[in-house]
Amino acid sequence: MSHEEILVPTNSTSGSWNMKWRLKCPACGIDEVERADETGDHEAVTVQPDRDDYDSPLGTRGGYVRVDLTCSDGHGFAFIMGNHKGAEFVGVVHRA
Ligand SMILES: [Zn+2]
Repeated sequence: MSHEEILVPTNSTSGSWNMKWRLKCPACGIDEVERADETGDHEAVTVQPDRDDYDSPLGTRGGYVRVDLTCSDGHGFAFIMGNHKGAEFVGVVHRA
């Protein structure tokens, strides 16, 4: 089972550029999501510098930010933000 709508708009203010979304688990759709606790909260967020390689988990080239997450049902996934040559990507990938 997979859920296409995992970014849920919250507190949208019309006419404002300030926006936020709540991220749901891509495997089961539950909205209880925590930082992965295998390594501790302080290591769940990492910044990968741009080395011009195609090594982002999204398959994009260049640097990216990775947030390791686990839903309350135990599904492990990572939220990724990457940028290369004028294109910004956000996505989730399965985390073994
Ligand atoms: Zn889940």
